[in-house]
Amino acid sequence: MTVGIAVLGSTGSIGTSTLRVLERQRERFRVVALTAYGSADRLLRQAAEVEAQFAGLVNGEAGASSQRNARLAVGTECLIEAATHPDVGIVVNAVVGAAGLEATLAALRAGKRVALANKETLVMAGELVQAAAAEGGGEIVPVDSEHSAVLQCITGRRPVELRRLILTASGGPFREWSVDQLPSATANEALRHPTWNMGPKITVDSATLANKALEVIEAHHLFGLGYQAIEVVVHPQSIVHAFTEFVDGSVLAQVGFPTMELPILYALTHPQRVEDTGTKPFDPVAAGPLTFEPLRYDDFPAFTLGVRAGATGGTAPTVYNAGNEVAVQAFLQEKITFGAIGDVIRAVLDAHEVSPATDLETVLAADRWAREQVEELCLSR
Ligand code: MG
Repeated sequence: MTVGIAVLGSTGSIGTSTLRVLERQRERFRVVALTAYGSADRLLRQAAEVEAQFAGLVNGEAGASSQRNARLAVGTECLIEAATHPDVGIVVNAVVGAAGLEATLAALRAGKRVALANKETLVMAGELVQAAAAEGGGEIVPVDSEHSAVLQCITGRRPVELRRLILTASGGPFREWSVDQLPSATANEALRHPTWNMGPKITVDSATLANKALEVIEAHHLFGLGYQAIEVVVHPQSIVHAFTEFVDGSVLAQVGFPTMELPILYALTHPQRVEDTGTKPFDPVAAGPLTFEPLRYDDFPAFTLGVRAGATGGTAPTVYNAGNEVAVQAFLQEKITFGAIGDVIRAVLDAHEVSPATDLETVLAADRWAREQVEELCLSR
């Protein structure tokens, strides 16, 4: 018996890594459904290769030439259709940004496991996601390497034994830039990540360190720790993915050469481990020397603003996430400077009146409001 998989965002970086993992694990898993944003031809090629039953294209305009294809569902609803497909047991959600939320909620309500690479989902609506899981019996398993590391360290332990997490951050491409150089960094410079090869949104988030703030919020929701118990250390080699401290003072870490294929595989098989030969064997000598340094909180305001929004709770993290998404797009289109990303996020958070985020309408309204505000802010800069 194989487990059916849906891959949302199959043509992106995580999506293609997932298909590589699944190719090696055919005796355990079969691909049932695939969705992509706009790469219609690529999606159809993937769907034919894995013999998927369902293929969905989110942006119909981009795929206009492929709409005649009867196998292709077109429009945003295809995400939910794929996520709740009766033959699917595990949904790999690798959609970029807030667009992934409703599919996560639907999959959890339908009792599926969600292998979550879409951290924005947990950031914008952590409480709703938990409630949906409780309601439908679904579960969230992280794909993010740091959170996978924590999960691997705590599996088999009781929650009360966990004291503190230290997530590692590569520091991004600007780790050694002076505070005077940072504001004028260009999109090309931001897209040159030293250790991870990823899509443009997360690569810019790694340069501003917003990605690490999103990960702190994600860890809070996944592992039930308060914000004071989740720390970040800069580790440029990206070999140690996280440190997990237990109540007796013992610390476990998960290590390995940077690859997303391992966390993806573990998200599919947790709590078990299965034979896989896809990743480069670990070599401590080749990996070292390993260094650790404090995060430059004052120079990377997007990090501090994000963690503060997370600790505030309610709609604050929703607004942070939406503001960041719009600011990153504007930066990639060269409408605002690198330095302005933090400024506009701060401005939208300052202007926001936080309310409890207990229903989807409130969350989506806060998300919409923040996007409009930040679009205006970006235009006026
Ligand atoms: Mg990560």
